Amino acid sequence: MLRRSLLALARSERVKRLASTMPVSGGIVSRFVAGETPEDAVRVSSELVADGMRVSLDHLGEDTLDRAQADAKVAEYVEVLRQLGEAGLTTDTEVSVKLSAIGQAMPGDREDADRVALENARRVCQAARNAGTTVTLDAEDHTTTDATLDVLTELRQDFPETGAVLQAYLRRTEGDCKDLAHTGSRVRLCKGAYNEPESVAYPDRIDVDRSYVRCLKVLMNGAGYPMIATHDPRLIRIAGVLADRADRAQDSYEYQMLYGVRPEEQRRLVGAGNTMRVYVPYGDEWYGYLMRRLAERPANVGFFVRSVATKG
Ligand SMILES: Cc1cc2nc3c(=O)[nH]c(=O)nc-3n(C[C@H](O)[C@H](O)[C@H](O)COP(=O)(O)OP(=O)(O)OC[C@H]3O[C@@H](n4cnc5c(N)ncnc54)[C@H](O)[C@@H]3O)c2cc1C
Repeated sequence: MLRRSLLALARSERVKRLASTMPVSGGIVSRFVAGETPEDAVRVSSELVADGMRVSLDHLGEDTLDRAQADAKVAEYVEVLRQLGEAGLTTDTEVSVKLSAIGQAMPGDREDADRVALENARRVCQAARNAGTTVTLDAEDHTTTDATLDVLTELRQDFPETGAVLQAYLRRTEGDCKDLAHTGSRVRLCKGAYNEPESVAYPDRIDVDRSYVRCLKVLMNGAGYPMIATHDPRLIRIAGVLADRADRAQDSYEYQMLYGVRPEEQRRLVGAGNTMRVYVPYGDEWYGYLMRRLAERPANVGFFVRSVATKG
């Protein structure tokens, strides 16, 4: 109930305007978001890398409605990749891209939007390769899953290192894991962050967790590179057991968590010899992202409300 209300707030223009006047450098925003500029993103990446983490940078923004906005997002990625290269961070830092941000969600002809998204994704992949790193395509709501996986297939012809994201809450995902568990295939498995209908997604958390474990088994026993994106202590333990059973070396898979979420657990996993990649969002369109994080953890809501009230 609270989760649904927060996800609705994420779309409220009034609250968004009020919250957006909060300084990004203070309080709850800076806990989850690196800052607004590429320089902020590079600074936070270098701090995390110095702590033994890897990073995936996400330039926030999903509501790209025209070609000019899509091109501007691509330029943002190209610039941050250039700065990461200059800072010598590309061995440990990659980028995550939402296709909706680079053209897929443009109104009008769907095929046209998919074509623009693919062209733009190629430009980001090329910039990433030039800088010595990779791209992972984020997963969005279920209406985009097929189109996103089609773009992935196309991209992997030229950029086989491109990472996929699969969402365990979708009923289809175990099958997608089977298709993608092949040599060289980097696959991030997450629970899924959108409000989805029961027709396509498991409504109960327990079924989502069970699906996550089934998917993990497929990925761990397959030949690809699983990226285990969860903060869930039980699933992290199960992932470790499945990796052992599959005789996987610690460098043949990685854990991933969001910036600001369970940082002590992130350090513990690194200390135990695991690869830990932190997903770091940055950019001025941080409001919707922050609301989704709060929807997952209503304990933080009071903190957020106080921050808006005091603009702190
Ligand atoms: C690296 C990464 C990339 C992602 N990419 C995508 C994507 O492309 N598409 C997509 O739909 N979703 C994505 N997600 C979001 C994901 O789908 C979930 O919404 C989110 O990770 C919460 O699920 P969870 O697995 O942590 O489990 P939950 O069931 O939400 O949480 C399990 C436990 O983790 C701890 N925990 C969770 N959140 C917090 C918090 N904020 N503060 C403190 N403790 C907490 C608590 O102990 C909680 O009981 C991504 C998540 C990660 C980590």
